[in-house]
Amino acid sequence: MAHPIHRLFIPAPGQKLRQPQIAPECVSVSKASRREDMTEAEKIAAKLEPKLARAFFKLLATMQEAVDLQALADALASGDIGKVLSLIVNADTGMADEEVEQIIQEAVWGGAALAASQINARVTGAYFAFDRLNPRLISWLKGYSLSLIRQITDETKESIRDKLISGMTSGSNPVEVAREIKGAIGLTTRQQKAVSNFRKELQTFHERKGAKAWNLGGKIDRVNGRQVFKPGADGTPKDAVDERRLRDFRFDGQLQRAMGTGKPLSKEQIDRMVAAYERKYLRYRSEVIARTEALRTTNYGVQDAWRQAIETGKVVESQVRRMWIVAKDERLCSVCAPIPGMNPKRGVPFGKPFSTPRGPAMVPPIHPNCRCTLFLRQWEPEQLANG
Ligand SMILES: [Zn+2]
Repeated sequence: MAHPIHRLFIPAPGQKLRQPQIAPECVSVSKASRREDMTEAEKIAAKLEPKLARAFFKLLATMQEAVDLQALADALASGDIGKVLSLIVNADTGMADEEVEQIIQEAVWGGAALAASQINARVTGAYFAFDRLNPRLISWLKGYSLSLIRQITDETKESIRDKLISGMTSGSNPVEVAREIKGAIGLTTRQQKAVSNFRKELQTFHERKGAKAWNLGGKIDRVNGRQVFKPGADGTPKDAVDERRLRDFRFDGQLQRAMGTGKPLSKEQIDRMVAAYERKYLRYRSEVIARTEALRTTNYGVQDAWRQAIETGKVVESQVRRMWIVAKDERLCSVCAPIPGMNPKRGVPFGKPFSTPRGPAMVPPIHPNCRCTLFLRQWEPEQLANG
């Protein structure tokens, strides 16, 4: 009577399901998918994405706000980097963690409900009801959220350490440096570098003859109300760094004036512009994380519903196959486009990973901005016998 539990898909609590972060080759940050081109799973993920982005932003912003400026300045004055980092890592983020966890749960449930309706529509006599409170799923969810949050905290710690060690700070006393460090909490090393370069550029802005790439006084590029960026070859938003598109455009008048009069920007002006830039970068980072995680967890929900259907005997594992559905705007993606051709026509068996140009993978996404989804179905044995 006992159905085997397919551990292959279930990382132990705290363990990661995440694919290794790899250089993206097909980034479509500047392109918003048309709704009618999306798979059902993509739609579910897209709907949850803004909510998840807000929750991540809240988490990162809370991490920042929770650090006591004076304590941070004291730790900096003592020269103890370990103490500085522990202040940041141990900051109390309160309910922000739970909010992230809750939305991830919603995504998994959304994917599972979709799969359940497909199972009931296609598998004769299945009458499958997905159990949201399945203990295995609940413990997976807990572990997944925890490891995701821990990863974000670890990255933050790493980038603050880099900032301190590489002397990316410009303040002349501990309180000033503390303020700079505090503002940078939540950003990656690369993003922090962009912020400190931005500050340097502002300090000499009045010496410029022009700032053509900045498009001063221009408009923010938006799609559906959201700011979009042209990505560079490695997928980072090129113009966010090179053209400072993440700056607060409301300060453009001050920049133009500094250039026109040759009078340097005041320290207060620079601090305000840098703070606004950091804030927008934090929001941008939250959106990037949310985009990947919303899709990953929705896909996981689809997968988990099928697992439950197998475990409860509603479908027959040996007849289930999984197909990798390449998102419409990824048809030219060098990572994902070849995947369907690399795998059996009727799909891979339930417990087997897909072959991909990046090695075996269980569930998409496999690169930032990957929008691929899963489709599972149960075949008749004779259909499978004929290849
Ligand atoms: Zn993809």
